[in-house]
Amino acid sequence: MVNFKKARERMVETQLAARGIGDARVLEAMRKVPRHMFVDEALRDQSYNDHPLPIGEQQTISQPYIVALMTESLGLSGGEKVLEIGTGSGYQTAILAELAGRVFSIERHPALAQRANQILQQLGYQNCIIRVGDGSLGWRDDAPFDGIIVTAGTPAIPQPLVDQLAMGGRLIVPVGDKLGQDLYKVERAPEGIRKTNLGGVRFVDLVGKWGWKE
Ligand code: SAH
Repeated sequence: MVNFKKARERMVETQLAARGIGDARVLEAMRKVPRHMFVDEALRDQSYNDHPLPIGEQQTISQPYIVALMTESLGLSGGEKVLEIGTGSGYQTAILAELAGRVFSIERHPALAQRANQILQQLGYQNCIIRVGDGSLGWRDDAPFDGIIVTAGTPAIPQPLVDQLAMGGRLIVPVGDKLGQDLYKVERAPEGIRKTNLGGVRFVDLVGKWGWKE
């Protein structure tokens, strides 16, 4: 039986801090959120390891380092309104709920959305809302967002997400083919849209109107 708190400490030191994650608030959130609660009981002992894990519906909970990198890239200081596309296990949602004011998250698989919602409730998170639907369309009713994070790979940046960014807001999105993508940071500045390539990643498909076809 793994000591989860110790495993989490070790994960933060060896997988995150040692690889350049420097935002103290992000490291603190990753030290706090019980990642093992977001995976199947049979996989709990592996939940702090340096790789993704299956969560059902052929989807995965992302590797801890990728969660940290994407979260840090959002540059949250507290109080922001954030949109997540691809709730999956709900783990990334919890990390965002620790760091932002309000979190809106969209998942296309009802079963995953329901389970994530249940765990987030159980852990006491009251500042996040999960909706079932096609997140490639964004969440127009509550736009604009200070941060948008897409946790599935897409052939091109979904235009609705760029449109739903607040001035100064940031969108983090993996763009590429099905075998590999580049993680992009898209910032809306007064001068226009600025894009930065943060490096190579591998995600499951974003399936929807502005992603891959079913
Ligand atoms: N952040 C999640 C990652 C889950 S994997 C975690 O840490 O657990 C990506 C998720 O995106 C999957 O659950 C998949 O079902 C979902 N997804 C794919 N296309 C989507 C879309 N168009 N809208 C909403 N969710 C989508």
